[in-house]
Amino acid sequence: MKITCKWQDNEWALFKDAQATAAEMLEAAGAKEVTLRNAPSAPGECIHEMGSARMGNDPKTSALNRWNQAHDIKNLFITDGSFMVSSACQNPSLTYMAMTARACDYAVNQMKRGEI
Ligand SMILES: Cc1cc2nc3c(=O)[nH]c(=O)nc-3n(C[C@H](O)[C@H](O)[C@H](O)COP(=O)(O)OP(=O)(O)OC[C@H]3O[C@@H](n4cnc5c(N)ncnc54)[C@H](O)[C@@H]3O)c2cc1C
Repeated sequence: MKITCKWQDNEWALFKDAQATAAEMLEAAGAKEVTLRNAPSAPGECIHEMGSARMGNDPKTSALNRWNQAHDIKNLFITDGSFMVSSACQNPSLTYMAMTARACDYAVNQMKRGEI
């Protein structure tokens, strides 16, 4: 497989605007000698892909309910990054772990009640 990938005009415009805005905020807060980078990270270097089995209340628009449990299959729980509906710039792995612990607790209680 050969993959060719590079930032296009819009990504460069976003990058430059983010830099200028960040510098403006830092200087307004009193920062001195603010240094800007020449280029953004390589594509894929900072990436958090998620959302392929998204969580939601409506089975028509989501795969999982609020407990990471499949709407259609009660004994199926999905707790990797796919349950997240959107991604932010923060690292997500600790949130996956917290949500996994929460889903396990719920599943154990459901099993004890004979619901699954
Ligand atoms: C460069 C980089 C740096 C990162 N740094 C951080 C960080 O510092 N902190 C942080 O919290 N997050 C970080 N992340 C994000 C984090 O790594 C991911 O969000 C996390 O790994 C997602 O976990 P996951 O289990 O959902 O998916 P993945 O870890 O992608 O696991 C999916 C697995 O499924 C397998 N698979 C795919 N298709 C099939 C198939 N058809 N059959 C069988 N297996 C299949 C894949 O081989 C893979 O092993 C980083 C991501 C990248 C790319």
